[in-house]
Amino acid sequence: MIKILANDGIHPDAVTLLNEAGYQVDDKKLSADELTRMLPQYDVVIVRSATKIRKDLIDRCPNLKIIARGGVGLDNIDVDHARAKGITIMNTPAASSESVAELAFAHMFTLSRSLQGANREMPQKGTASFKALKKEYSNGIELRGKTLGIIGFGRIGQSVARIGIALGMNVLPVDLKVQEADIGINVFHSEHVRLSVNVESVEFEEALIKSDFLSLHVPFSGGKPMIGREEMMRMKDGAYLINTARGGAIDEQALLEAVESGKLGGAGLDVFENEPTPMSELLNHPRISVTPHIGAGTQEAQLRIGQELADRIIHFFGDDK
Ligand code: NAD
Repeated sequence: MIKILANDGIHPDAVTLLNEAGYQVDDKKLSADELTRMLPQYDVVIVRSATKIRKDLIDRCPNLKIIARGGVGLDNIDVDHARAKGITIMNTPAASSESVAELAFAHMFTLSRSLQGANREMPQKGTASFKALKKEYSNGIELRGKTLGIIGFGRIGQSVARIGIALGMNVLPVDLKVQEADIGINVFHSEHVRLSVNVESVEFEEALIKSDFLSLHVPFSGGKPMIGREEMMRMKDGAYLINTARGGAIDEQALLEAVESGKLGGAGLDVFENEPTPMSELLNHPRISVTPHIGAGTQEAQLRIGQELADRIIHFFGDDK
């Protein structure tokens, strides 16, 4: 029987699909030491971003046929080494795009009304100082009519554009390869009532200097941050920076200083340079909205990820199980 270890969990419907197809699925989280001992027994390992599958572990697992990543980034897996050993790598790049895009907007809406501050202050002061808090938080802005720079006009960037257009924002996408895209909006979730808008990419500089909200949706695997101190200085005064892509794509120290000085209005961060121990000054800043890398963490995305991986694993083994 094919044995599958889902070390960072998997949607229960996917476990059912795999069990019904005759596969054994263990979804109890193993520590790194346990993984070293136990993984050689498995044919397939399914991970998210938490479990690292490095060379030495791969070398201990001659039976391993598939390493499946629920999500996009493969930085936690030594992909070339695994492929050289004949192991198939699977990931699910499209399954979480809408969820990440919605989280980017959750941060934008939060920042536009300072909800990160109100949510922190209301529990302590909401009864004694309601009127003072009302005054403090009554200077919000609307997203409608604002300019949204989208750095990276791929799957997630295009979902962000779709939501931005539907909200009445002026979207300015930037991409190394994508020059334009037809952004379709299904009205009332219907396939029959569909609006389509052709959106052309602009130069990075244009998006940088014109955006009220600048949202990052590019891959990043180290090196110089895309948005460093100099880029922040060229941004519009009071603009907001949103990072749901990867920690390190923004210079965090420069961001802290830009928000502290009032150059930037604030930031929304789902990803951090030092995960899982992000800089505490960022986490505690009253004008920074923070989430713990939960872009793909919706029930819908996890269901799509689980179903897609289950289908592809079943297809891979065919009748061999
Ligand atoms: P994608 O490959 O569909 O799109 C990325 C786009 O960025 C591509 O069109 C590419 O041409 C463009 N690009 C690359 N480098 C660029 C640069 N320097 N300047 C301008 N454009 C550039 O990827 P996607 O599915 O949209 O995902 C984007 C990123 O989102 C991923 O790489 C991942 O890091 C991140 N992500 C985060 C979460 C989360 O939980 N927060 C979840 C999924 C993905």
